[in-house]
Amino acid sequence: MAKRLANVDTSRCVACGVCRLQCPKEAITIYKGCYAMVDSEKCVGCGLCAKACPAGAINVMERGQ
Ligand code: SF4
Ligand code: SF4
Repeated sequence: MAKRLANVDTSRCVACGVCRLQCPKEAITIYKGCYAMVDSEKCVGCGLCAKACPAGAINVMERGQ
């Protein structure tokens, strides 16, 4: 399993879906049209979603923190 994992700050997320389109692992879904949700088993911690997010709502962190 990857060492890093994307984490969404749901209070900042505007559910635009940009992160979902960027993710090479199809690890992101937009939960009920409200906010982005990351599948921790699929995420490899690449950070592409965080770079693309216009709201700065995603941080990539070490797992287990
Ligand atoms: S860090 Fe990479 S693999 Fe994980 S959700 Fe973001 S784009 Fe997808
Ligand atoms: S790109 Fe950012 S604001 Fe847009 S759905 Fe993803 S986490 Fe939310």
